[in-house]
Amino acid sequence: MNNNIKIIEEINKLKKEKDAIILAHNYQIDEVQDIADYVGDSLGLSIKASEVTNKVIVFCGVKFMAETAKILNPLKTVLIPDKTAGCPMADMINAKDVIELKKQHPGAIVVCYVNSSAEVKANVDICCTSANAVAVVNSIPKDREIIFIPDKYLGSYVESQTARKMMLWHGYCPTHAFIDAKSVIQMKKDHPEAEILVHPECNSEVIKTADKVLSTGGMLKYAHESPCKEFIIGTEIGIIYRLQKQNPGKIFYPAKNNIICPNMKLINLEKIMWSLEDNVYEINLPGNIIKKARLSLERMKEFV
Ligand code: SF4
Repeated sequence: MNNNIKIIEEINKLKKEKDAIILAHNYQIDEVQDIADYVGDSLGLSIKASEVTNKVIVFCGVKFMAETAKILNPLKTVLIPDKTAGCPMADMINAKDVIELKKQHPGAIVVCYVNSSAEVKANVDICCTSANAVAVVNSIPKDREIIFIPDKYLGSYVESQTARKMMLWHGYCPTHAFIDAKSVIQMKKDHPEAEILVHPECNSEVIKTADKVLSTGGMLKYAHESPCKEFIIGTEIGIIYRLQKQNPGKIFYPAKNNIICPNMKLINLEKIMWSLEDNVYEINLPGNIIKKARLSLERMKEFV
Protein backbone atom coordinates (compact mmCIF):
# COMPACT_ATOMS: atom_id res chain seq x y z
CA MET A 1 0.00 0.00 0.00
CA ASN A 2 1.25 3.50 -0.82
CA ASN A 3 2.80 5.07 2.31
CA ASN A 4 0.62 8.20 2.09
CA ILE A 5 -2.54 6.07 2.01
CA LYS A 6 -1.43 4.30 5.22
CA ILE A 7 -0.72 7.63 6.90
CA ILE A 8 -4.07 9.06 5.79
CA GLU A 9 -5.86 5.99 7.21
CA GLU A 10 -4.02 6.40 10.49
CA ILE A 11 -4.83 10.13 10.65
CA ASN A 12 -8.52 9.41 10.05
CA LYS A 13 -8.51 6.72 12.76
CA LEU A 14 -6.80 9.03 15.26
CA LYS A 15 -9.17 11.87 14.39
CA LYS A 16 -12.13 9.70 15.37
CA GLU A 17 -10.48 8.40 18.56
CA LYS A 18 -9.48 11.86 19.74
CA ASP A 19 -12.52 13.73 18.41
CA ALA A 20 -10.28 16.03 16.36
CA ILE A 21 -10.82 18.34 13.41
CA ILE A 22 -8.10 19.50 10.99
CA LEU A 23 -8.09 23.14 9.88
CA ALA A 24 -5.65 24.27 7.18
CA HIS A 25 -4.64 27.55 5.59
CA ASN A 26 -4.83 28.06 1.81
CA TYR A 27 -0.98 28.18 1.65
CA GLN A 28 -0.47 24.65 3.04
CA ILE A 29 0.94 21.89 0.83
CA ASP A 30 -1.52 19.99 -1.39
CA GLU A 31 -1.71 16.79 0.72
CA VAL A 32 -2.44 18.78 3.86
CA GLN A 33 -5.20 20.75 2.11
CA ASP A 34 -6.67 17.46 0.90
CA ILE A 35 -6.85 15.86 4.35
CA ALA A 36 -8.17 18.97 6.11
CA ASP A 37 -11.81 19.23 7.18
CA TYR A 38 -11.74 22.93 6.39
CA VAL A 39 -9.33 25.00 4.26
CA GLY A 40 -9.52 28.78 4.24
CA ASP A 41 -8.00 32.20 4.72
CA SER A 42 -7.37 33.82 8.11
CA LEU A 43 -10.89 35.22 8.42
CA GLY A 44 -12.60 31.97 7.42
CA LEU A 45 -10.33 29.97 9.72
CA SER A 46 -11.01 32.28 12.66
CA ILE A 47 -14.74 31.91 12.21
CA LYS A 48 -14.48 28.15 11.76
CA ALA A 49 -12.19 27.77 14.80
CA SER A 50 -14.64 29.66 17.00
CA GLU A 51 -17.46 27.28 15.98
CA VAL A 52 -15.63 23.97 16.42
CA THR A 53 -17.39 21.51 18.73
CA ASN A 54 -14.70 18.78 18.57
CA LYS A 55 -12.35 18.36 21.54
CA VAL A 56 -9.16 18.86 19.52
CA ILE A 57 -8.23 21.28 16.72
CA VAL A 58 -5.17 20.35 14.67
CA PHE A 59 -4.16 23.63 13.10
CA CYS A 60 -2.12 23.44 9.90
CA GLY A 61 -0.80 26.93 9.37
CA VAL A 62 1.60 29.13 11.33
CA LYS A 63 1.72 29.80 15.06
CA PHE A 64 -0.28 33.05 15.19
CA MET A 65 -3.15 31.25 13.44
CA ALA A 66 -3.16 28.38 15.94
CA GLU A 67 -3.03 30.94 18.77
CA THR A 68 -6.04 32.71 17.23
CA ALA A 69 -7.95 29.40 17.25
CA LYS A 70 -7.07 28.93 20.94
CA ILE A 71 -8.12 32.50 21.82
CA LEU A 72 -11.47 32.11 20.04
CA ASN A 73 -12.18 28.64 21.43
CA PRO A 74 -10.12 28.41 24.63
CA LEU A 75 -11.67 25.23 26.04
CA LYS A 76 -10.41 23.19 23.07
CA THR A 77 -7.02 21.55 22.79
CA VAL A 78 -5.28 23.29 19.88
CA LEU A 79 -2.31 21.49 18.34
CA ILE A 80 0.16 22.74 15.73
CA PRO A 81 2.02 19.84 14.09
CA ASP A 82 5.27 21.83 13.71
CA LYS A 83 6.10 24.19 16.54
CA THR A 84 8.70 26.05 14.47
CA ALA A 85 6.10 27.27 11.94
CA GLY A 86 6.20 30.99 12.66
CA CYS A 87 5.55 34.16 10.68
CA PRO A 88 8.38 36.65 10.13
CA MET A 89 5.87 39.49 9.76
CA ALA A 90 4.21 38.65 13.10
CA ASP A 91 7.68 38.71 14.70
CA MET A 92 8.32 42.26 13.47
CA ILE A 93 6.33 43.76 16.36
CA ASN A 94 5.94 42.81 20.02
CA ALA A 95 3.68 43.88 22.89
CA LYS A 96 6.28 46.36 24.21
CA ASP A 97 6.34 48.12 20.82
CA VAL A 98 2.53 48.45 20.89
CA ILE A 99 2.52 49.84 24.43
CA GLU A 100 5.17 52.40 23.39
CA LEU A 101 3.16 53.39 20.28
CA LYS A 102 0.06 53.92 22.41
CA LYS A 103 2.06 56.16 24.75
CA GLN A 104 3.28 58.22 21.80
CA HIS A 105 -0.23 58.46 20.29
CA PRO A 106 -2.66 58.71 23.21
CA GLY A 107 -6.26 58.34 22.08
CA ALA A 108 -5.37 56.57 18.83
CA ILE A 109 -7.23 53.39 17.84
CA VAL A 110 -4.87 50.48 17.22
CA VAL A 111 -5.92 48.25 14.31
CA CYS A 112 -3.95 45.03 14.16
CA TYR A 113 -3.66 42.61 11.26
CA VAL A 114 -4.24 39.04 12.56
CA ASN A 115 -0.70 38.20 11.50
CA SER A 116 0.53 39.07 14.98
CA SER A 117 1.22 37.31 18.27
CA ALA A 118 -1.39 36.76 21.00
CA GLU A 119 0.47 39.24 23.27
CA VAL A 120 0.23 41.92 20.58
CA LYS A 121 -3.48 41.22 20.00
CA ALA A 122 -4.04 41.58 23.75
CA ASN A 123 -2.86 45.20 23.54
CA VAL A 124 -4.85 46.48 20.55
CA ASP A 125 -8.38 47.75 19.99
CA ILE A 126 -9.46 45.66 17.03
CA CYS A 127 -7.99 43.02 14.71
CA CYS A 128 -8.56 42.67 10.98
CA THR A 129 -7.67 40.30 8.17
CA SER A 130 -6.84 41.19 4.59
CA ALA A 131 -10.49 40.36 3.77
CA ASN A 132 -12.03 42.95 6.10
CA ALA A 133 -9.28 45.52 6.85
CA VAL A 134 -10.96 48.22 4.71
CA ALA A 135 -14.34 47.72 6.42
CA VAL A 136 -12.72 47.76 9.88
CA VAL A 137 -10.91 51.05 9.20
CA ASN A 138 -14.03 52.59 7.61
CA SER A 139 -15.93 51.87 10.84
CA ILE A 140 -13.62 54.09 12.91
CA PRO A 141 -14.86 57.66 13.49
CA LYS A 142 -13.15 60.12 11.15
CA ASP A 143 -11.76 62.25 13.98
CA ARG A 144 -9.81 59.37 15.59
CA GLU A 145 -6.16 58.80 14.87
CA ILE A 146 -5.40 55.24 13.71
CA ILE A 147 -2.28 53.16 14.27
CA PHE A 148 -2.12 50.21 11.85
CA ILE A 149 0.18 47.28 12.70
CA PRO A 150 2.24 45.35 11.67
CA ASP A 151 1.98 45.29 7.83
CA LYS A 152 2.96 48.56 6.13
CA TYR A 153 1.86 47.30 2.70
CA LEU A 154 -1.60 46.19 3.78
CA GLY A 155 -1.81 49.45 5.76
CA SER A 156 -0.97 51.59 2.76
CA TYR A 157 -3.45 49.68 0.58
CA VAL A 158 -6.15 50.32 3.22
CA GLU A 159 -5.20 54.02 3.25
CA SER A 160 -5.74 54.15 -0.51
CA GLN A 161 -9.18 52.55 -0.20
CA THR A 162 -10.44 54.54 2.76
CA ALA A 163 -8.80 57.95 2.24
CA ARG A 164 -7.63 57.69 5.88
CA LYS A 165 -4.08 58.59 6.81
CA MET A 166 -2.79 56.13 9.40
CA MET A 167 0.36 55.68 11.43
CA LEU A 168 1.84 52.53 9.83
CA TRP A 169 4.22 50.12 11.56
CA HIS A 170 7.15 49.02 9.37
CA GLY A 171 6.43 45.28 9.18
CA TYR A 172 5.94 43.32 5.98
CA CYS A 173 5.66 39.78 4.65
CA PRO A 174 8.97 38.65 3.07
CA THR A 175 7.11 36.22 0.78
CA HIS A 176 4.86 38.91 -0.68
CA ALA A 177 7.67 41.48 -0.72
CA PHE A 178 9.49 39.09 -3.07
CA ILE A 179 6.83 39.75 -5.75
CA ASP A 180 7.88 42.69 -7.94
CA ALA A 181 5.92 44.72 -10.49
CA LYS A 182 8.38 43.97 -13.31
CA SER A 183 7.74 40.22 -13.02
CA VAL A 184 3.96 40.71 -12.95
CA ILE A 185 4.09 42.97 -16.03
CA GLN A 186 6.21 40.37 -17.85
CA MET A 187 3.67 37.66 -16.97
CA LYS A 188 0.89 39.84 -18.36
CA LYS A 189 2.87 40.25 -21.61
CA ASP A 190 3.21 36.45 -21.79
CA HIS A 191 -0.49 35.91 -20.98
CA PRO A 192 -2.35 38.99 -22.25
CA GLU A 193 -5.81 37.46 -21.69
CA ALA A 194 -5.16 36.79 -18.01
CA GLU A 195 -6.61 38.87 -15.17
CA ILE A 196 -4.12 39.87 -12.47
CA LEU A 197 -5.21 39.10 -8.89
CA VAL A 198 -2.86 40.18 -6.11
CA HIS A 199 -2.88 40.05 -2.32
CA PRO A 200 -2.83 43.36 -0.40
CA GLU A 201 0.36 42.26 1.39
CA CYS A 202 2.14 43.07 -1.91
CA ASN A 203 3.88 46.42 -2.33
CA SER A 204 2.07 49.38 -3.93
CA GLU A 205 3.87 49.01 -7.29
CA VAL A 206 2.57 45.43 -7.59
CA ILE A 207 -0.89 46.54 -6.48
CA LYS A 208 -0.92 49.14 -9.30
CA THR A 209 -0.55 46.31 -11.86
CA ALA A 210 -3.57 44.39 -10.51
CA ASP A 211 -7.07 44.04 -11.88
CA LYS A 212 -8.24 42.98 -8.42
CA VAL A 213 -6.67 43.17 -4.96
CA LEU A 214 -8.06 40.32 -2.88
CA SER A 215 -7.51 38.08 0.15
CA THR A 216 -6.97 34.42 -0.71
CA GLY A 217 -10.63 33.73 0.11
CA GLY A 218 -11.57 36.63 -2.17
CA MET A 219 -9.41 35.22 -4.98
CA LEU A 220 -11.18 31.86 -4.77
CA LYS A 221 -14.58 33.49 -4.98
CA TYR A 222 -13.61 35.91 -7.73
CA ALA A 223 -11.85 33.35 -9.95
CA HIS A 224 -14.88 31.08 -9.71
CA GLU A 225 -17.36 33.79 -10.69
CA SER A 226 -15.29 35.62 -13.33
CA PRO A 227 -15.94 34.74 -17.00
CA CYS A 228 -12.17 35.06 -17.52
CA LYS A 229 -10.31 31.78 -18.16
CA GLU A 230 -6.75 32.75 -17.17
CA PHE A 231 -5.38 34.45 -14.06
CA ILE A 232 -2.02 35.69 -12.83
CA ILE A 233 -1.87 35.12 -9.08
CA GLY A 234 0.18 37.42 -6.88
CA THR A 235 0.33 35.56 -3.60
CA GLU A 236 1.86 32.43 -2.03
CA ILE A 237 1.67 29.56 -4.52
CA GLY A 238 -0.22 27.18 -2.18
CA ILE A 239 -3.47 28.87 -3.21
CA ILE A 240 -2.98 27.80 -6.83
CA TYR A 241 -3.66 24.15 -5.93
CA ARG A 242 -7.09 25.08 -4.57
CA LEU A 243 -7.85 27.54 -7.39
CA GLN A 244 -7.05 24.85 -9.95
CA LYS A 245 -9.02 22.17 -8.09
CA GLN A 246 -12.13 24.36 -7.89
CA ASN A 247 -11.83 25.64 -11.48
CA PRO A 248 -10.58 22.78 -13.66
CA GLY A 249 -11.39 24.65 -16.88
CA LYS A 250 -9.29 27.71 -15.97
CA ILE A 251 -5.54 28.36 -15.88
CA PHE A 252 -3.65 29.99 -13.00
CA TYR A 253 -0.11 31.34 -13.37
CA PRO A 254 2.00 32.38 -10.37
CA ALA A 255 3.01 36.05 -10.74
CA LYS A 256 6.61 34.93 -10.38
CA ASN A 257 8.51 31.69 -9.77
CA ASN A 258 9.06 30.54 -6.18
CA ILE A 259 6.58 32.71 -4.28
CA ILE A 260 6.86 30.35 -1.34
CA CYS A 261 6.44 30.94 2.38
CA PRO A 262 8.85 28.39 3.91
CA ASN A 263 6.94 28.44 7.21
CA MET A 264 3.70 27.43 5.51
CA LYS A 265 5.42 24.37 4.00
CA LEU A 266 6.67 22.85 7.28
CA ILE A 267 3.61 20.73 8.03
CA ASN A 268 3.13 17.43 6.23
CA LEU A 269 1.04 14.28 6.64
CA GLU A 270 3.55 12.55 8.94
CA LYS A 271 3.65 15.54 11.28
CA ILE A 272 -0.16 15.64 11.43
CA MET A 273 -0.17 11.94 12.36
CA TRP A 274 2.48 12.43 15.06
CA SER A 275 0.64 15.48 16.33
CA LEU A 276 -2.52 13.43 16.85
CA GLU A 277 -0.63 10.44 18.27
CA ASP A 278 1.33 12.41 20.86
CA ASN A 279 -0.92 15.47 21.35
CA VAL A 280 1.82 17.83 20.19
CA TYR A 281 2.46 20.73 20.05
CA GLU A 282 -0.22 22.17 22.27
CA ILE A 283 -0.89 25.91 22.18
CA ASN A 284 -1.08 27.26 25.74
CA LEU A 285 -1.67 30.91 26.49
CA PRO A 286 -2.10 32.79 29.79
CA GLY A 287 -5.75 33.41 30.72
CA ASN A 288 -5.35 37.22 30.80
CA ILE A 289 -3.87 37.25 27.28
CA ILE A 290 -6.74 35.09 25.98
CA LYS A 291 -9.30 37.36 27.62
CA LYS A 292 -7.86 40.61 26.22
CA ALA A 293 -6.92 39.29 22.77
CA ARG A 294 -10.37 37.75 22.40
CA LEU A 295 -12.03 41.16 22.63
CA SER A 296 -10.05 42.49 19.64
CA LEU A 297 -10.73 39.31 17.64
CA GLU A 298 -14.45 39.26 18.46
CA ARG A 299 -14.67 42.88 17.23
CA MET A 300 -12.97 41.77 13.99
CA LYS A 301 -15.51 38.97 13.49
CA GLU A 302 -18.31 41.53 13.31
CA PHE A 303 -16.89 42.57 9.91
CA VAL A 304 -17.55 39.43 7.89
S1 SF4 B 1 3.01 34.21 3.82
FE1 SF4 B 1 3.94 35.98 4.84
S2 SF4 B 1 2.43 36.68 6.31
FE2 SF4 B 1 1.86 34.58 5.68
S3 SF4 B 1 2.82 33.28 7.22
FE3 SF4 B 1 4.26 33.45 5.51
S4 SF4 B 1 5.59 35.16 6.11
FE4 SF4 B 1 3.78 35.30 7.41
